[in-house]
Amino acid sequence: MIEQLKNIFTGIALITLFIYPTNVLLAQTHSENESMSELTTEEITRLNNNRKLVADKANMKAETAAIDSIRMHFELIDEADEMSPADDLYDGMWDNQYVKAYSNVTIPDVHLIDLSSFAMPIEGRITSPFGPRRGRFHYGTDLKLQTGDTVYAAFEGRVRVKQYEKKGYGYYLVLRHPNGLETVYGHLSRFLVVVDENVEAGQPIALGGSTGRSTGPHLHFECRFLGQAIDPADIVDFNNFCTYEEQYIFEKSKVNSISVNNSNKYTAQNGSVTYYKIKQGDTLSTIAKKYRVSVDQLCRLNGIKITTTLRVGRVLRCS
Ligand SMILES: [Zn+2]
Repeated sequence: MIEQLKNIFTGIALITLFIYPTNVLLAQTHSENESMSELTTEEITRLNNNRKLVADKANMKAETAAIDSIRMHFELIDEADEMSPADDLYDGMWDNQYVKAYSNVTIPDVHLIDLSSFAMPIEGRITSPFGPRRGRFHYGTDLKLQTGDTVYAAFEGRVRVKQYEKKGYGYYLVLRHPNGLETVYGHLSRFLVVVDENVEAGQPIALGGSTGRSTGPHLHFECRFLGQAIDPADIVDFNNFCTYEEQYIFEKSKVNSISVNNSNKYTAQNGSVTYYKIKQGDTLSTIAKKYRVSVDQLCRLNGIKITTTLRVGRVLRCS
């Protein structure tokens, strides 16, 4: 009991010690204010001007800090996109079992895919194209090869799936790429990579074969974006073993037309459709002004809201 009282007294003594200098300071400020009346009008004006200058400087500093923080925000988004845009798109989902594992993912209306690092998986002719086939839908492009031929990664990325499917793909791989695409390689005879392994574009990943549902040695090659199959021949020029362009514009409406019509005949692209890649400092109204559309139209075209954060590098449809 005595010990506790002692502690309380020590506490009060300490608090008093801390409060004491503050009181002295307050008293000093007070006396300074009183002495203001003794200053001349000229001196008071000068003092007030000085105070105003200090205040302006503080405001400017705050504004600069706010601009810096916005800039930093954009730089961070930019950097994140460069590091692993796929993680952002796939919402961190990483499944080692299935090709199409993204039933709950939001698919953007438009997305620009960088194809610059493409390498041919196998230099073989097309034996069966993407599209409806014998009452089913063929989600890939079949490329001729001999059993034992090396199959290469189409882009840099990471091995997401390494599986066997007796009545379908046979031995197959799925790679996830930083550009947002996933590529599938089916009917393989041997794996040269393990699951979760990082691969470079053009790195040998497997040997070709005829495992699974296959009538002869070939590579079944798929290009998918968030699980949605894209016709590989839309991206790759299989006669010249390269991509048609450095970039590919993924459009949800094209994919929808596949599932609705069950056909690979994409709706013809309207010549007046224009896209814009968001740059630092853009707002919906500056973009709208540039393309002579209203902000409302811009939002409708892209399925976004006025409040949606504009990410640097994202593509907006503007007409
Ligand atoms: Zn196939």
